[in-house]
Amino acid sequence: AKSQGRNTYRYYTESLTRAANARLSLESRLRRALEREELVLHYQPQVDMRTSRVTGVEALVRWEDPDAGLIPPDRFIPLAEETGLIIPLGAWVLASACRQLQAWIEAGAPPLTLAVNLSSHQFAQPDLAMHIGHELQLTGLPPELLELELTESTLMQHDRRGMETLEALRALGIALSIDDFGTGYSSLAYLKQLPIDKLKIDKSFVQGIPEDRNDAEIAATIIAMARNLNLRVLAEGVETEAQRDFLRRAGCDAYQGYLFSRPLPGAAFARQYLR
Ligand code: C2E
Ligand code: CA
Ligand code: CA
Ligand code: CA
Repeated sequence: AKSQGRNTYRYYTESLTRAANARLSLESRLRRALEREELVLHYQPQVDMRTSRVTGVEALVRWEDPDAGLIPPDRFIPLAEETGLIIPLGAWVLASACRQLQAWIEAGAPPLTLAVNLSSHQFAQPDLAMHIGHELQLTGLPPELLELELTESTLMQHDRRGMETLEALRALGIALSIDDFGTGYSSLAYLKQLPIDKLKIDKSFVQGIPEDRNDAEIAATIIAMARNLNLRVLAEGVETEAQRDFLRRAGCDAYQGYLFSRPLPGAAFARQYLR
């Protein structure tokens, strides 16, 4: 039993070392990817429920690794958050997305809104609003077209200074939306205090619509709550017509999801939606 224990122990430390090495190499690879501009943005259309027209676009980052191929954000954003790499990465995302939208507009595209995801770490930067204001000036993108997506948990983590940052962003003319809404525990009273414009219903609730009574009920409640607070509401992860129709009837303003389109590389997005 004893030798078996030792074997287990050895196995355990070996696999820990392997995990640590894998993590380290992922971190240094990501650092290098950032320097070599191996990150790309994909764009997913956001669609108006009533008109079925594309009124906005969400920028979603991917890592184009020369060996591993396209790596999804869930595999490197958490690591980027832990290591602080999210700060230069987030700055790259914001600058690239603003530049892209401005280029489309200058080429004659309609003025779509641009949604960019903001991580918790970025949100904690005291000079965030100043930095973003500067970026908007550089690109010439009208602030009204930019929308920042923050998760419920990000907002909860940064109570006081977070509020100042939200106010400063709002003062620039930028719109704010709460991403993955419904997965945290925001109360109506809390939401009312926040200077926000939009709620995005998390796709975990959208998935069960219409069969799952709980999911349908939660989505309908979020929509009703948003309307009461004069917030716009968008459902994410809409994959079926039944989901879209249910959400539309419940009063949801907009949606995004595979039903309409997957996130697309910039050139494909422009070809399909900007003519
Ligand atoms: P998110 O912001 O909640 O983005 C929505 C995710 O759902 C995206 O995954 C999108 O591709 C996916 N999606 C869209 N429509 C559907 C659908 O109909 N069905 C299903 N099952 N999924 C759908 P993606 O692109 O892999 O991004 C995952 C997460 O990574 C994002 O979740 C966001 O939290 C994070 N992320 C992506 N880009 C950035 C970024 O530039 N900065 C930061 N901080 N986070 C990012
Ligand atoms: Ca998002
Ligand atoms: Ca989301
Ligand atoms: Ca999410």
